[in-house]
Amino acid sequence: MAESAGPDPAVVLAELVGGERVASDPDTLARFSRDHWPLAILLEGAGRPADRPACVVRPRHAGDVAAVLRWASETGVWVIPYGGGSGVCGGAGGVRGAVVLDLRSLGRILEPDRDALLVRAEAGVLWADLERQLTERGFTTGHYPQSIDLATVGGLVATGSSGQFSTGYGSIEDRVAGLEVVLADGTVLDLPDRAPRRAVGPELMRLFIGSEGVLGVITAASLRVLPLPASRSVYSHAFPRWEAGVEAIRRVLQAGWRPVLTRLYDPLDAARSFPEHAPPGRAVMLWASEGPAERVRAEREAVDALSRDLGATELGPDPVVHWLEHRNDVQLWYDALAMGVLVDTIEVAANWGRVDALYAAVRAAIEGVAGVFYVACHASHAYPQGTSLYFTLAARPAEPDPDGIETLYYGVWEAAMEACVAAGGTISHHHGVGRVRRRWVAAELGPGLDVLRRVKQVLDPRGILNPGVLLP
Ligand SMILES: Cc1cc2nc3c(=O)[nH]c(=O)nc-3n(C[C@H](O)[C@H](O)[C@H](O)COP(=O)(O)OP(=O)(O)OC[C@H]3O[C@@H](n4cnc5c(N)ncnc54)[C@H](O)[C@@H]3O)c2cc1C
Repeated sequence: MAESAGPDPAVVLAELVGGERVASDPDTLARFSRDHWPLAILLEGAGRPADRPACVVRPRHAGDVAAVLRWASETGVWVIPYGGGSGVCGGAGGVRGAVVLDLRSLGRILEPDRDALLVRAEAGVLWADLERQLTERGFTTGHYPQSIDLATVGGLVATGSSGQFSTGYGSIEDRVAGLEVVLADGTVLDLPDRAPRRAVGPELMRLFIGSEGVLGVITAASLRVLPLPASRSVYSHAFPRWEAGVEAIRRVLQAGWRPVLTRLYDPLDAARSFPEHAPPGRAVMLWASEGPAERVRAEREAVDALSRDLGATELGPDPVVHWLEHRNDVQLWYDALAMGVLVDTIEVAANWGRVDALYAAVRAAIEGVAGVFYVACHASHAYPQGTSLYFTLAARPAEPDPDGIETLYYGVWEAAMEACVAAGGTISHHHGVGRVRRRWVAAELGPGLDVLRRVKQVLDPRGILNPGVLLP
């Protein structure tokens, strides 16, 4: 099983799905050879581009996907499901001779079901387009990843994504009510949304949320929507210490409040993100409350009081307003990568009681890697049980060549992952495993890894789907 040794996949697939739906020109192959993985971007800049696929197929519907997968399972040719290509862990691309499924071609959105608060969208719909369409009709998904303009419905489900307002609205698993998935043998599996919950064996949908394209190709999803909130209040605080801000989030959530946004910046991240608002040396906390006006008012008063108890001072709405305006602007990230500087983000998570230790350990581990010159952190997805920590780092390779880049990149990740495992955290909160975290999946899952492998073996016996991703 590998790159096709037989007839040209582009020729065979053109017969299966139509010539106009198959591309193999050099520009298309280059475009689909990688996602937003910082390592792949840096290596490309240093003259070592990612391996090219054999061709790119743009299916019209689940039937086309089924035809491609059936053929691939017979021939053993690898298939890469490709959504928006905004993944940052190397989950889409980089496999020589593979067939890429460009799922952006599955782009239909149905009218929302206003009674049940559901909307069905095909896998290739950009989440921003879905949100726009829903907003016009008075609804929202409540799911706002920073990559909302880049990422697709299928990709966000396949990576187990989390949005910026996840503390209030939950993550992608809370949005998914039904899925259509095509399996490697061409079976179209319809996991319907006919009731809000069911107890008919394990919930099979869950198997595909976070499966990173290795168990099946998601072709459509039914998603839970919400009426647009009646009111919103945004507010912020400066905390004397990061740990006090962490404690404030815990107390707020464990008291039963659910601000949609809880976003705590450590002093370094605060100084970079809010140069005009952040008092020097303080941690800055952004909050937003949404819903009926009475609840929003009560929540804000409670959060203010709990924060003051921990020594916080009020900073007003401006930092949140500033963040809301600039939250998805990552041009600096692209600029730095283009200059050969590694800028990356590593998100981990832990239960309360281990959060402070996880923060200290991962931070120190990354700082200890030669070449690293910046490490900052914010806590942005919180639960009554714990929180995620999102580290941003910048580093320069000792040598700007591919070997120097790889040494730096893997040095940073090894340090961060080992520290995370030792501190009892989970190795990814929402970016997934891709290629970069594979080595630590065994430490995370234990014997569960073998269960996952056996599931993979049953659903995809020839291993055609997304080789090298998720499973070590
Ligand atoms: C600037 C920036 C900001 C980001 N912010 C966030 C954030 O706030 N929250 C967050 O969760 N993530 C974030 N990410 C990461 C990324 O956007 C997510 O991982 C997203 O879910 C990827 O969606 P995509 O459509 O781009 O998928 P791709 O990158 O194309 O693919 C991601 C993985 O899913 C698989 N896949 C894609 N589509 C399907 C499908 N239909 N069926 C089966 N498998 C599929 C691919 O094979 C690959 O393994 C960010 C990335 C960037 C670059």
